Amino acid sequence: MDFQLNEELKTLQDTARKFAETELKTKAREMDHAEKLDLSVFKKMAEQGFTALTIPEKFGGAGTYDAHMANQAACIVLEEINRRCASTGVTLSVHMSLFSSLMTKWASDDIKSRYLPDMASGKKIGAYCLSEAGAGSDAGSLQTRAKKNGDHYILNGTKLWITSGEYADVFIVMARTSDTGKTKDISSFVVDAKAPGVSISKKEKKMGIRASATNEVVLQDVKVPANNLIGEEGIGFKIALDTLDGGRIGIAAQAVGIARASVEDAVEYAKTRQQFEQPIAQFQAIQFKLADMAMRVDAARLLMYRAAWLRDNGLPCGKEAAMAKLAASEAANYCAKEAVQIFGGNGYSREYDVERYFRDARITEIYEGTSEVQRIVISRAVLA
Ligand SMILES: Cc1cc2nc3c(=O)[nH]c(=O)nc-3n(C[C@H](O)[C@H](O)[C@H](O)COP(=O)(O)OP(=O)(O)OC[C@H]3O[C@@H](n4cnc5c(N)ncnc54)[C@H](O)[C@@H]3O)c2cc1C
Repeated sequence: MDFQLNEELKTLQDTARKFAETELKTKAREMDHAEKLDLSVFKKMAEQGFTALTIPEKFGGAGTYDAHMANQAACIVLEEINRRCASTGVTLSVHMSLFSSLMTKWASDDIKSRYLPDMASGKKIGAYCLSEAGAGSDAGSLQTRAKKNGDHYILNGTKLWITSGEYADVFIVMARTSDTGKTKDISSFVVDAKAPGVSISKKEKKMGIRASATNEVVLQDVKVPANNLIGEEGIGFKIALDTLDGGRIGIAAQAVGIARASVEDAVEYAKTRQQFEQPIAQFQAIQFKLADMAMRVDAARLLMYRAAWLRDNGLPCGKEAAMAKLAASEAANYCAKEAVQIFGGNGYSREYDVERYFRDARITEIYEGTSEVQRIVISRAVLA
């Protein structure tokens, strides 16, 4: 057993940490206040090679995928990016863990060669369209339809809560190709954002991750070439759930990043803030908070690495990914709440980042499966 990162992953961690410090430390607050992502940051992340991590070299990606380290590499980068900016983090996470990973694992070589090189280089941004107004935790009840018509499909439906919807170039869309009412009706399609009939009808005003875009995406008589079907008809829900195992590891990394940011900022503040003629770090009440926070960060990170390693090695990881996401999202919320407490009144001010961590942490318990859904996944495996 080895608890050290290998040299390649250590170098990647160092690169991502420096990038986040230089490019995101101050920008994160500005983008949060403006509720707008600076897309030049995405391009810069691509220049660092981050967008290529989950894509094979043959399709323009990095060696990490071919070396069975793609998920571990993604986790390492996502922790660092999210430590500074969770809005940037979720944009990268959806692009890598939901879009590119799905395409890499399930799509034909024809689809991969048409789309993945631009995803690897960051020229294009990907989004993942599963949720609808009536289909959240119960994603299998989605109503978007895809009707075969000769050499193409016609898609109709409305997708909700789509991360990066307004600036994505390509969507992966889950839609029903038959009507038995079962999840085996669902298929996955690659849909160009510029295809006639695709429109963005709404931008959500959110509590946290405010700089990331979350949109309603409407598909009205959208003509999609039949060769943009991923795999075959009827396996779309299986693809969606398998992809979410990987996505949940990405959200665990986001949560670990927010939790770590909370601890690091709280430690620095506790050492400098004086009350009763001493730094507040001298009070055991504060020390114990910091101990509990640090323990939760480490526990969550270890669960995250385990799940990533399993997935990189082609082993089942549904339960482990759910555990990582659940533990990490609870750690993020715990740590951000305690950080606000340690900052006192300043923690409640938008002048300090812990206020943003508190708002950003909240989403990690909701998307890519709520905490209740993670507990369902874990308990099913435990009871099997
Ligand atoms: C900011 C943001 C970004 C998102 N990005 C994307 C994206 O890019 N692509 C995409 O497809 N989706 C995305 N989503 C959607 C997200 O995955 C869903 O919001 C999430 O799965 C929960 O679904 P829901 O909101 O419909 O809640 P509901 O399913 O209505 O759940 C409401 C409550 O009921 C509980 N509940 C539901 N069923 C059960 C059950 N069986 N047992 C116990 N409790 C239950 C839930 O845990 C929750 O507490 C995003 C959401 C947000 C807020």
